Amino acid sequence: MQERRELFPHVIEMNYQARRRLGCSVYLVFDADEWILIDIGYEDTVEEIVELIRQMDFPLSNCKYIVATHADVDHVQGLKRARELLPSAVLCGHPEAAALLAKGERVMTYAEISAQKISIDMPSVKLDQKISEGDVLKVGNLELEVWHTPGHTNNQLSFRMGNLLFAGDNIYRDGCVGNIDAHHGSDIVDFIESLTRIRDSEVEWLLPSHGPVFRNDPELLTATIERLHGYSHMADFGTCAIDWPLMEEWESELVEGFDPESA
Ligand SMILES: [Zn+2]
Repeated sequence: MQERRELFPHVIEMNYQARRRLGCSVYLVFDADEWILIDIGYEDTVEEIVELIRQMDFPLSNCKYIVATHADVDHVQGLKRARELLPSAVLCGHPEAAALLAKGERVMTYAEISAQKISIDMPSVKLDQKISEGDVLKVGNLELEVWHTPGHTNNQLSFRMGNLLFAGDNIYRDGCVGNIDAHHGSDIVDFIESLTRIRDSEVEWLLPSHGPVFRNDPELLTATIERLHGYSHMADFGTCAIDWPLMEEWESELVEGFDPESA
């Protein structure tokens, strides 16, 4: 049996477990004889991940859930293959994620970024259960509270378990956030709300979907929130911005006329 490298009691992360980078974070939460996965990653790492789980002596038939934090291809491409290897698992995610996954949607999931010649498989898969704000997932005696945390995308979920938050693509250790993109369903105002909720919560540790685990540090979160406030008034963020103050400045200049002397 392989040693179980728990990050926190009852929590294993498969990149940490493998001691190398496999892809997005894949969290295994276990208690009593049940276990679940939060995200599964790309299809080509599913078999290796399942093999690591088997080596840690988790009976494959006791996988209760595989949860999609959101429907981005790097988090969910392996769901279809995972269902074949872990047939007992109930696949679940936000209703909007379920809709994208059911049709194997390509643009909103980033399987297709034509301007960058990115075009990868996005196997369609039907989620068994739709979950959102207020739902609770039980794993043995543990409870994961489902938070709907839109911003990066409208189908982003986070999961609170005691003082831990599986935080998806809301924020990373360096204060960066999941990318903001109109074609992806991003919303900066929602994002600020989600980050404020996380910052002001009792949660002590953030377990992100990319990169290392970190503390819920109010200073880090506040700096990120302020940055996003800035974004919401900048042309850089196109239709994701709520306004652009330069337009008002220009309007008064159009009325008064341009004067090189005062420019
Ligand atoms: Zn991601």
